[in-house]
Amino acid sequence: EAKRLRQAVAVYNPGAEAARALHLSLLSDLAAAIQQDQLRQFLQPKRCLKTGRITGAEALVRWQHPQRGWLPPGDFIPFAERSGRIRQITDWMLARAVRTLAEWEAQGQEPLTIAVNISTLDIQDQTLPARLAALLSEYRVDPAQLQLEVTETGLMASGADPIAVLNALKAWGVRLAIDDFGTGQSSLAYLQHLPVDELKIDRSFVQDVDRDPRRQALLKSIVGVGQGLGLTVTAEGVENEAELACVRACGCDLVQGYLLARPMDLRDFESWRGSATAE
Ligand code: C2E
Ligand code: CA
Ligand code: CA
Ligand code: CA
Repeated sequence: EAKRLRQAVAVYNPGAEAARALHLSLLSDLAAAIQQDQLRQFLQPKRCLKTGRITGAEALVRWQHPQRGWLPPGDFIPFAERSGRIRQITDWMLARAVRTLAEWEAQGQEPLTIAVNISTLDIQDQTLPARLAALLSEYRVDPAQLQLEVTETGLMASGADPIAVLNALKAWGVRLAIDDFGTGQSSLAYLQHLPVDELKIDRSFVQDVDRDPRRQALLKSIVGVGQGLGLTVTAEGVENEAELACVRACGCDLVQGYLLARPMDLRDFESWRGSATAE
């Protein structure tokens, strides 16, 4: 009896089975998530080190799942990419961002930019520029207030000619950023061909930079190259004052990270912004 039980357990492999079941149910839930308005857009601010001003925010998706609670993007974005649903998430995030920009403008707020993350599959999608243009004109939002973030790896992996799509997006006047810079295999030389405005240096170069002179040297040279190409350079994931001091010393233009603020829902972001400006 004990032996049969052991065999059954070995064959059953609850880990893999549970993972498969979770994947399958997430997949069907994802369709509902968009229709039933379960996605949320969080905003994390960026600050200019020269002026001290808040210049914009990055939009980060969250899923308020009715049974599983809050899910971070890492739990469902890879799925959405594999199952072809990423486009719906991207469209939802873009629409949400553009609506917020329009609301801020109607309220007479000083303009900020909102940056939306775009996946590899979106870059390959030739219809993205037109979808974006339709949104911007529907809400009468200045395209320069919207930024798209693409990862270096995403750009390299996309089969289509990423430069053509980026140029088409650029032609609509939106701003483009290279995300997670320094983690991919693309070279600094490739960068000069990309029609981008901003370089976001990956957190791995920023973390503990105050305690590692070699990391500091790397950070400084990435900043130098980026600014040499005329790009705004942002340090991601700045968590404490020591890292901030280094990032500042290396000449970064903008900072983003838990030290400044965590990603927040729109309401919290608006009140945070109010108090940050009042300081
Ligand atoms: P990312 O684009 O590099 O976004 C930054 C991530 O770092 C966010 O995690 C953010 O919450 C986190 N972060 C910010 N400051 C700090 C810090 O000081 N310390 C640490 N340890 N982390 C910090 P999040 O929201 O979990 O997003 C993870 C990734 O999921 C994003 O990385 C992005 O690649 C992807 N993602 C998020 N939203 C979207 C989306 O709407 N569409 C697509 N395609 N991908 C998204
Ligand atoms: Ca990003
Ligand atoms: Ca990033
Ligand atoms: Ca990342």
